[in-house]
Amino acid sequence: MDSLISEQVTHVHHWNDSLFSFRVSRQQGLRFENGHFVMLGLEVEGKPLMRAYSIASANYADELEFFSIKVPDGALTSRLQHIRKGDKILLRTKPTGTLIAGNLLPGKRLYLLSTGTGLAPFISIIQDPAVYEQFEQVILVHGVRTVSELAYQDFIQRELPENEFFGDVVREKLHYYPTVTREPYRNTGRITQLLESGKIFSDLGLPAPNVDEDRFMLCGSPAMLKDISNSLDNLGYNNATRSVQGHYVVERAFVEQG
Ligand SMILES: Cc1cc2nc3c(=O)[nH]c(=O)nc-3n(C[C@H](O)[C@H](O)[C@H](O)COP(=O)(O)OP(=O)(O)OC[C@H]3O[C@@H](n4cnc5c(N)ncnc54)[C@H](O)[C@@H]3O)c2cc1C
Repeated sequence: MDSLISEQVTHVHHWNDSLFSFRVSRQQGLRFENGHFVMLGLEVEGKPLMRAYSIASANYADELEFFSIKVPDGALTSRLQHIRKGDKILLRTKPTGTLIAGNLLPGKRLYLLSTGTGLAPFISIIQDPAVYEQFEQVILVHGVRTVSELAYQDFIQRELPENEFFGDVVREKLHYYPTVTREPYRNTGRITQLLESGKIFSDLGLPAPNVDEDRFMLCGSPAMLKDISNSLDNLGYNNATRSVQGHYVVERAFVEQG
């Protein structure tokens, strides 16, 4: 049953002026699959104000973690960005979503393609030991405008490879490819262009993708999702549905309004 519960904020971290992460307590009954999103919010004028949020923590973690934008005039995030340790947030108890490894056909390599806060579900997925059993290589691509938006770098590059239970498999299988569009950086340009030119594959020493071996999860802006889905469709990849496995799955990182 989907009900509204209250959880307590245990930790807040501001990455820059436009992005922050926070952790909240987790009631034992709240179960989810890595990659799921949940409705989260605050009580505003006596009513719940809820928005969809991907869960960035792993499904075995004691707390829930979220990675959030700060929209200056956003109904929720203009308030949520001020939360502090000890504050209460509201959660609906029915996580859901399509970015589930089980929705994909068997393959060799899993590409996790994200822009902005679309990274959040993949932070959960790269902490899933089962994903490393399912795929020989996992490639996490994160596209942002400025270097300060490259959140979770330390976690991805230092903490996770040192994980006492599966750090060895992370070191062997996880590739991280951050790219920046509006500032100089070691990788620059939009993900769509980097895929089309093949630069991502040559930089990482990976073969050009093919339908038999490569699987994709996409989470980002509506424009990014449209462009990459179109390219994959043209190359013969099938988008999975909740009932039929496919070569790729898609989730929106946000919805454009107005
Ligand atoms: C399936 C799903 C999962 C989501 N997961 C996350 C998440 O993990 N983290 C997160 O911050 N947001 C996420 N969102 C977006 C989130 O639901 C809200 O839109 C966001 O929290 C802003 O809420 P708001 O009320 O402040 O502004 P809103 O009124 O909801 O949004 C105002 C405008 O801000 C822009 N915007 C909203 N969210 C984003 C974003 N994340 N990145 C860039 N621009 C944005 C859009 O142009 C939007 O029209 C998700 C949305 C969906 C549909």
